[in-house]
Amino acid sequence: MSENRGVWVFSEKHDLALEMLGKGREIADKLQTELAAVLIGHGVQKKADELIRYGAGKVYFVDNPALKHFQIEAYLSVLYNLAVNYKPEIILIGSTRNGKPLAARLATRLEAGCVPDCAKLSVDKHGRLVGERITYGGNAAAKITFKTKPQIATIPARAFEKPESKDSSGQLIKLDVKVEESKTEVVETKPLETSSVRIEDADVIISCGRGLGKKEDKALLDELATVLCGQVGCSRPLAEDRKWFTEWVGLSGHKVKPKLYIACGISGVIQHVAGIRDAKVIVAINKDEQAPIFEVADYGVVGNLYEILPALKEAIKKQLG
Ligand SMILES: Cc1cc2nc3c(=O)[nH]c(=O)nc-3n(C[C@H](O)[C@H](O)[C@H](O)COP(=O)(O)OP(=O)(O)OC[C@H]3O[C@@H](n4cnc5c(N)ncnc54)[C@H](O)[C@@H]3O)c2cc1C
Repeated sequence: MSENRGVWVFSEKHDLALEMLGKGREIADKLQTELAAVLIGHGVQKKADELIRYGAGKVYFVDNPALKHFQIEAYLSVLYNLAVNYKPEIILIGSTRNGKPLAARLATRLEAGCVPDCAKLSVDKHGRLVGERITYGGNAAAKITFKTKPQIATIPARAFEKPESKDSSGQLIKLDVKVEESKTEVVETKPLETSSVRIEDADVIISCGRGLGKKEDKALLDELATVLCGQVGCSRPLAEDRKWFTEWVGLSGHKVKPKLYIACGISGVIQHVAGIRDAKVIVAINKDEQAPIFEVADYGVVGNLYEILPALKEAIKKQLG
């Protein structure tokens, strides 16, 4: 049987695929092998050029009307067929709601290992991929390597920087692959009524926790968010228990990577902090000076958020003129 060769990148989220190409290139160079992207969909050929400009030496492109929307059986059958035919050494899959189950099923079909949610990737001295992920409720980081090939890892958005786009050339390989019929049918898709920017993409996030007394007081955060062109987030209890929000930040919620994260009335236990570790600057506002959030904050304000937030908003407004 021929040896597995090459690093592959796939995500149904195009931006995430581009981000993974940067790390993919680094690993491929270390292993002295090729970097390829897999593009699955219908009428999306122009994305192939972009994948090449961001570093893919090859793009395996499967175009089929049955692949217009993500359907796990259909996408899985394509990826499985390609992997069996071309035998990549490593497959990096975007850690999205669709990508994670896809990676797990692909690994099962290929009888291969899968490491989900790798925030770091490296290659050990035996040339094996090593994935690093947060585990034990955010209390530890585990390094995991593989005993089988292909080595499959899923990568969350913003784990790695998107590489520079270059005027490079690559090979576009169009393939006709038998698509497995889906056992479910998409009846309708409609956008969620949420803010226009997804919280994972926001540069500035102002988050509230149980320190916020009532739902209406969220206006305080909205006002500061408007001044700073940011988004409002929250800790899990505000979404899960109080139902004031639909999504939250943290280990079981969104992992965010903003330039500025302002935590207001959030204690900062490990499950929340696990989602904000990659923020560039963390500011904490909490009336309890012993609150653990101060251990991870770059700047801390000990005080009542109901006094600090309006004052902060006015000061920033003045500063911005
Ligand atoms: C498996 C698991 C997964 C979890 N995942 C997540 C997750 O993804 N994200 C998450 O957030 N949590 C998660 N949790 C919950 C987590 O353990 C905490 O319960 C939660 O983060 C606490 O939220 P909080 O900081 O808003 O509330 P609290 O811990 O109650 O803290 C409120 C803080 O507000 C301060 N405060 C009160 N009033 C004011 C005021 N007027 N001005 C200023 N400060 C004030 C208090 O001093 C306190 O520090 C998870 C838990 C488990 C078991």
